[in-house]
Amino acid sequence: MRLASPRVVKEILAKQSIKPSRGLGQNFLIDGNVVKKLADTANIDPNDTVLEIGPGIGTLTQELAPRAKKVIAVEKDRKMVEILKETLAGLQNIEIVCTDVLKLDTQPKDCSRGASALGGGPPRAENYKVVANLPYYITAPVIRKFLEGEHKPACAGRPESLTLIVQKEVAQRICAKPPDMNILAVSVQIYAVPKIIAYIKKTSFWPQPKVDAAILQITPLAHPYPIHFPKFFTIVKAGFKQPRKQLMNNLSVGFGFSRQKTEQWLYKNNIHSTRRAETLSLQDWINLANTL
Ligand code: SAM
Repeated sequence: MRLASPRVVKEILAKQSIKPSRGLGQNFLIDGNVVKKLADTANIDPNDTVLEIGPGIGTLTQELAPRAKKVIAVEKDRKMVEILKETLAGLQNIEIVCTDVLKLDTQPKDCSRGASALGGGPPRAENYKVVANLPYYITAPVIRKFLEGEHKPACAGRPESLTLIVQKEVAQRICAKPPDMNILAVSVQIYAVPKIIAYIKKTSFWPQPKVDAAILQITPLAHPYPIHFPKFFTIVKAGFKQPRKQLMNNLSVGFGFSRQKTEQWLYKNNIHSTRRAETLSLQDWINLANTL
C-alpha cells in the first residue's frame, strides 16, 4: 500500500485510535516525491545496511527496503511498532527495533571481530548508512551520537553517511561558514562534511510543522583531524560561551587566563583579539587546540 498520502496516514492512525504525538516529533511524510528524493540521496546499494531512525508507519522504510541488503528500523513508539508489523509485513529484510535511538549501542567493543553494533546489524562502520525523517527534538543529539566516538575509521561505529530531513534553519546552521559560524556547525564540521541537498515545504508533512525542512547529507571524514577532541571542545565551548562578546573575553574567563596570556595565544595563531567566535574558521579552532 502506498503510504505517502494524507488520507492513508490518517486512516491508519484512526484505525488504531492514535493521534500523532507532538512530543515524539511525529510529522509523517505525505509526499511520495520527497520520500523518493531522500532515498535517492542516500545512494544505497544492495550491500548496504541502512539504519532508519523513527520509521513511524513505514513510509520511508518501504522505499529503502528494496534498495538495501537490510533495514534496521529503530522506533521508540510502541504503537508505531504495532503498525509497522502490518505495513511492512511483506518485506523480508527489515528488522524493527523498539527503542530510543539515543540508547542504541552503536559502538563495537571489538573491531577485530567486527562486533555487531546494532543487534545483528552492520559488522563494520564503513558499510552502514543512516537515513531518517528525524524527530526534530533530537536532531543535535542524534548527529552527535553518530559522529562522535572512537576515532579509528574502520571500527568507530560511525556510519558511511547520514541522510536526514531536519528543520531548514537547523540545516543552515550546521552548514554555516565564517563569519556566521556557531557551535553546532563547528561540532559537526570537525567530524564531517555537511551539505544541504534540497529544501522541503512544510506541506509535505502531516501534521504540518510550523517551519520548512531540508534534506541534509552528512559525510564523516575518512580521516578524522589528528587533534585532542576533549581539549578542542573545551576551547570551542568557552569561545562561544557569550557569542556577542569578543573571543578574548570568553577565553580569558573560560580558562582563567590573564588578558595578556590569551592575547599571546590568539596572536600566535593570527587571530586578532577583537574577533568574535563566529568569525573563526574550523582551522582557527584546530590551531587554538594545538597550541594550548
Ligand atoms: N519516518 C516516518 C515518516 O517520515 O513519515 C516518521 C517520521 S516522524 C518525523 C519521527 C518518528 O520518530 C516518529 O515515528 C517517532 O515516534 C519516532 N521517534 C521519536 N523519538 C524517537 C527516538 N528517541 N528514537 C527512535 N524513534 C523516535
